[in-house]
Amino acid sequence: MPKPVIKITCPCCSGLLYQDCCEPYHLSLGAPNAEKLMRSRYSAYVLGLEEYLLDTWHPNTRPKYLKLSNDPTQWLSLEVRSFEPNDDQATVEFIAKYRDRGQAEKLHEISQFRRIAGRWYYVDGIYPK
Ligand SMILES: [Zn+2]
Repeated sequence: MPKPVIKITCPCCSGLLYQDCCEPYHLSLGAPNAEKLMRSRYSAYVLGLEEYLLDTWHPNTRPKYLKLSNDPTQWLSLEVRSFEPNDDQATVEFIAKYRDRGQAEKLHEISQFRRIAGRWYYVDGIYPK
């Protein structure tokens, strides 16, 4: 019997179905630009796809593990503020809302991305005041 297809809206708040948005990147690691990689990494946090997050992290800044299953953060929404591509580097500014042990919080980050051998990686982020 074929596996039932569950159609969910993509967690990255694009308004698209997951299968038409971040899922292909989660399956192939092939996000075509830094904004889409950023969105797919947010979705990966929501869905607990630790391996995807580590695989799309720049080797210089990649943590050894994330332990998402022990993380009490409950991600609520993503808003991409700006996206500045520049050859093999790019920045994406976003605001992600989440709940941490019942407390509503907001993460405002400008993330740096780098492309190596055709693949985009998350490097690190700065937090504007
Ligand atoms: Zn998405």
